[in-house]
Amino acid sequence: MKVLLISPPFVQLNSAYSALPFLKGVLASNDIESGCIDLGIRIANRLFSKEGIERLFEAAGKNPKNEDLIFFVSHMKEYTETVGSVISFLKGNNPVMAENIIEKGYLPEWKMSKSAMIIGTQNAFDYARYRASLYLEDIFLFYKAVCPDYGLSKYGESLAVSPPVFDGILRSVLSDDDMISKLIIDELDKTDMSGYDLTAFTVPFPGTLIGALKSARYIKEKYPEMKIALGGGYVNTELRSLRDKKIFDFVDFICLDDGEIPLLQLSSFISNRISEDDLVRTYFMKNGEVVYSDNSQNEISFKRCAPDYSGIVFSEYIPVIETLNPMMKLWSEKDTLKLRLAKGCYWHKCEFCDTSLPYIKKFAPEKIDDIIGDIKKMVNQTGITRFHFTDEAIPPALAIRLSAALIRENIAITWWGNVRFDPAFTEDACVLLNRAGCIAAVGGLESCCPKTLENMNKGISIGDAVKVIRNFKSAGILVHAYMIYGFPMETRRDLADSAEILRQLFSEALLDSAYWHRFALTRHSNVFRGRNRYKINVPDPDLKPFANNDIPYIDNSGESIDEMGPGLRKAVYNWMLGSGTGLPIASWFETSVPKPTVKKNFVRRIIEDNRLDIKPDHKIVWLGPEPKVNGKVIKINGADGSLEFELPGSLSSWLAKLLEDSSIFRGDGLQFDKTSGSFPKDSGIKFSDLLNNEIWDELQDAGLLIISL
Ligand code: SF4
Repeated sequence: MKVLLISPPFVQLNSAYSALPFLKGVLASNDIESGCIDLGIRIANRLFSKEGIERLFEAAGKNPKNEDLIFFVSHMKEYTETVGSVISFLKGNNPVMAENIIEKGYLPEWKMSKSAMIIGTQNAFDYARYRASLYLEDIFLFYKAVCPDYGLSKYGESLAVSPPVFDGILRSVLSDDDMISKLIIDELDKTDMSGYDLTAFTVPFPGTLIGALKSARYIKEKYPEMKIALGGGYVNTELRSLRDKKIFDFVDFICLDDGEIPLLQLSSFISNRISEDDLVRTYFMKNGEVVYSDNSQNEISFKRCAPDYSGIVFSEYIPVIETLNPMMKLWSEKDTLKLRLAKGCYWHKCEFCDTSLPYIKKFAPEKIDDIIGDIKKMVNQTGITRFHFTDEAIPPALAIRLSAALIRENIAITWWGNVRFDPAFTEDACVLLNRAGCIAAVGGLESCCPKTLENMNKGISIGDAVKVIRNFKSAGILVHAYMIYGFPMETRRDLADSAEILRQLFSEALLDSAYWHRFALTRHSNVFRGRNRYKINVPDPDLKPFANNDIPYIDNSGESIDEMGPGLRKAVYNWMLGSGTGLPIASWFETSVPKPTVKKNFVRRIIEDNRLDIKPDHKIVWLGPEPKVNGKVIKINGADGSLEFELPGSLSSWLAKLLEDSSIFRGDGLQFDKTSGSFPKDSGIKFSDLLNNEIWDELQDAGLLIISL
């Protein structure tokens, strides 16, 4: 039994999409041989090459009417001459090209390049990467003009977002005359698939469906015996009520939710070891009808494994950075490994989220030892030390325990991921995370308006969220906030208040980046189930034969919230560049906006509140070296310099013992209430005085933390 895993065009350019190594690892540990192909990156490399530009020139014709193509045709020679060196530079092979790329006149400049910020205080090398990326985006525009369905990471997206029936997609899959389809076929043609029994495509989002189906169609024609399966995020959210048979002209099986067990069962079925009734969360055709074999309640055990990156050619990936913002750049950085600390979301209660689906509601944390083992294996296999933890929301307790383990085992990695702005991310917890390599936190703030947060059932107050953002930021961790506007029952005034608090967060330099999403109603959310409560009408709630996720709805509030979208985006764009954070909210909008009711110092007052919230079962943990005591003087030689204090009574020896006993290298620290009980009475001060003293602040900076571990 041999499985071929394929990531279709175009998932991402900077690194391999996580599904391939995740599934490859599990297949290998369960004795199933597999191969993997990132078709998207192969085709991207062909598009952004001399060959691609020449093909595009042919496709554009001599006298194009489209303004993008007119520019391209007249500058074709410059693009042909520069594309190879730009790609080589972006891949990190040719750093000396930075000077040429920055130099005016070296690269042709069309719409995206012309919109570039001018070089200021930025790092010149990063600026060259940014300019090179915009140059590639200009080339995307030209491709888009000859393949209108094509967009980077969005191929055919408009066709695939919740279409009720398959017919539109079918037409697109059957027409294979555009440039990208030809490249897909050409790439597949070069690959010998004769040893494989099953090809499995991941379809993470709508824009990858048509590329996957075009590939599947070609494979079916060339290898009629090959079985083809489809899975991934798009399938999991959109195709849960599938009745339309036509998609089965191209694929044999469609698997829902986590792919490991469905794929292992499929392999057993294809090897004639189980019957089709034993398939798990899988659609297939039987007697001319679409049938679904669930069996998700059956306990099927399998051997877990670290993601396996063998077969991934890291040098093929192209980091395209569309912005110089340090937080936003992280999404595009090359050489990033993906790992998950837990399946599902530990909160799983936000009203707008797909909380009825297993990928959110079934929370299952990994064991710390397993995560540490995975990290070691992945670093060993790839030599890469940057991790993106792809959890829906990293549980704070797990992040804290993992950080302690990383420090204890001296594992030097950097990592970032999604979080809730959960109060469990205290100031000291964030210091610990940062010491363990955490460089960025991406949080769903969603709204800064208390009423809207309550309606969303976010479970976090705006006051708590602001403090947590401060904690991350003061620990040296970059922070991004996802925002939502247009949540049902949100008024224009609520949104103005939300935008004002966001402005204050930027103005206090607490946020590095943010993004406003328009609220979308999905079938799997609580808002859809409780829509009457939200005063929205869903004219057609019935299930459709093909895709079912995004639901058109009518908001009866009459608030015209959509008018505020452009102003919100413009404001955030500027705040991310550090400009206009002092301007009144109304100045960003073309439409009249209510005056915010929030006080101008709302955020400032919250961040100035430094009260410690210590629980008796919190642990005191020391991350630094062993101290030296000489009489009343205690000396600590840390990596960031040395500290020396002269303390009254026997305080220095008590403190030295505290640091030794609470060392992270000895265990999980000392319980706070027990420690406070041993505080020396001859010191002349109380333990609480020490906690509020600048000595404690200095010790905290050196690594003395009070955390829930
Ligand atoms: S929005 Fe985020 S925090 Fe809320 S339920 Fe979904 S995954 Fe969890």
